[in-house]
Amino acid sequence: MSVGLLFDTTRCIGCGACSSACKEQNKLPGPVEEVTTAYTWTTVQPREGVNVRKLCMHCAVPTCVSVCPVGALQKTPEGPVVYDGEKCMGCRYCIMACPFDVPKYQWDRPVPVVGKCILCAGRVKEGKPTACAEACPVEATIFGKREDLIWEARTRIRKEPDKYLNHVYGLSEAGGTSVLMVSGVPFEKLGLKADLPNEPPAMKTWQVLSNIPDFVGVWAVFLYGVHWITARREDVAKVENHGNGRSSKEDRS
Ligand code: SF4
Ligand code: SF4
Ligand code: SF4
Repeated sequence: MSVGLLFDTTRCIGCGACSSACKEQNKLPGPVEEVTTAYTWTTVQPREGVNVRKLCMHCAVPTCVSVCPVGALQKTPEGPVVYDGEKCMGCRYCIMACPFDVPKYQWDRPVPVVGKCILCAGRVKEGKPTACAEACPVEATIFGKREDLIWEARTRIRKEPDKYLNHVYGLSEAGGTSVLMVSGVPFEKLGLKADLPNEPPAMKTWQVLSNIPDFVGVWAVFLYGVHWITARREDVAKVENHGNGRSSKEDRS
């Protein structure tokens, strides 16, 4: 059973409860920022007289997963694309590969990792809705089975054709996504890419990489070495700080 979210720009009142609930659920530090960052996994932006949510789209065939050399990103059977910061070696290949410009890097950390929405994978596994959908007071964001959300989106469009564009964003973009959107304002005016192919770019990326002999292996070994050296330096610095009686801050989240 594949699940997802349906976001409706015509219903969103821009209250920001979804962004705040995400922060709380995922214990992300700092206030909600205006754009998505490694610490703000979803944000609500006013555009063209409506509000639009920005978050990972949870692609059916995610490019971020196919390009990660160490398997730090994984697509779960339920739909969420999850991330393991312990495996991440900081190559940033997912950032370059994502067609929706989603993963963000912890530029402020000595050993940075990537941050992005994980579609509340833990909650979803327990049969609960995502925190953002649960927090939305007007059902502008709803959670459910992807096929039910598609039916709901099409029903809203059919019932009020003057209110909505006849398009469900995410139905086929980049091969289809678990996050779907409906709107009365063209999606490109909301900062969403409208020119994406209907086939998953993941396949293309992998085909390109697989044509370069040993590219992934050699690059992975090199980057893992860089990551190890950086982490090692931090460990040494921590030990030295302890020796000097200073406390060490390490809060990878
Ligand atoms: S939107 Fe980007 S980060 Fe999210 S699953 Fe798709 S490729 Fe990965
Ligand atoms: S699905 Fe969960 S992780 Fe993703 S934006 Fe909503 S609350 Fe945040
Ligand atoms: S909680 Fe709902 S209404 Fe409020 S900003 Fe988020 S999607 Fe919009």
